[in-house]
Amino acid sequence: MFTIKEFVQPKTIEEAYSILVSRRNNTLIGGSAFLRMGSKKIDTAVDLSKLELNYIKNQDDYIEIGAFTSFREIETSPLLVNNFNGVISNAVKNIIGVQFRNIVTVGASVFSKYGFSDLITALLALDTEVELYKAGRMRLDEFLKRPYERDILTRVFIKKNQRQASYQQLRNSVSDYPILNVAVSRLENQWIIAVGARPQTAAIARNASEELTNNLRVDDLEHYANIAAKELTFGTNERGTAKYRQVMCKVLVRRAIMEVLQCE
Ligand SMILES: Cc1cc2nc3c(=O)[nH]c(=O)nc-3n(C[C@H](O)[C@H](O)[C@H](O)COP(=O)(O)OP(=O)(O)OC[C@H]3O[C@@H](n4cnc5c(N)ncnc54)[C@H](O)[C@@H]3O)c2cc1C
Repeated sequence: MFTIKEFVQPKTIEEAYSILVSRRNNTLIGGSAFLRMGSKKIDTAVDLSKLELNYIKNQDDYIEIGAFTSFREIETSPLLVNNFNGVISNAVKNIIGVQFRNIVTVGASVFSKYGFSDLITALLALDTEVELYKAGRMRLDEFLKRPYERDILTRVFIKKNQRQASYQQLRNSVSDYPILNVAVSRLENQWIIAVGARPQTAAIARNASEELTNNLRVDDLEHYANIAAKELTFGTNERGTAKYRQVMCKVLVRRAIMEVLQCE
């Protein structure tokens, strides 16, 4: 269990950031579900609940999600259920249980770049940007490649468009971490294939996405699945070997493309 010497609830993001960086062991607190599994000794815990970052807003061009929004809220939001073929809701609805999803937050999950993340894979297949207090706003794929730097993730923006998407996952049991997850999306002729839980952080299979975009043949979906499985790297952990993940990647990518094709 983690320990906390001091607990603060700043009312502005500026204050939260300045407390965060003032000492090495000061730590942001989201839902604290992940933090409490560890044994970190925290000097000042900076709780983000008073920053008014708990919302999903329907803006002109983007769906804007505040960092303190819970998984349950993004799972059940009519705006997210009714856009992108419900891919965000589908990605998180199997994680542990409702009480858990009522607590865990979007900002902590995206900022932490967990290799097993279901949410990151789904967001990566959409036109997603993130906003960090210090580093500013950038595309999610750019953020995922950046080296770790202390910061506060404040908002997630998903471009509002007609992108249709599918989320596929492989788990040993419903509430376990995913062995592999895949999100595929299509906007007109432009496709994105994202693969996560490899077990590294999700990444876009760029060659497969490009081939699908430039040369779609619905009778040979295996072709694109093979390219994705070949261009990405896979690792081994207690849930599966690299080889198993690579083989299953082909299955999930093919299934996801099929589902997106049916969205028409
Ligand atoms: C038992 C268990 C099983 C899980 N299974 C899955 C699963 O199957 N699929 C899946 O996708 N996820 C899974 N998760 C992860 C979960 O969905 C959340 O991503 C995770 O708990 C972090 O969310 P939190 O709000 O609890 O973060 P916290 O525990 O509060 O924080 C986690 C980290 O993020 C930092 N942080 C918090 N907020 C911010 C912010 N706004 N900006 C920058 N840094 C911040 C904290 O300082 C900390 O380092 C699991 C977690 C647990 C504990």
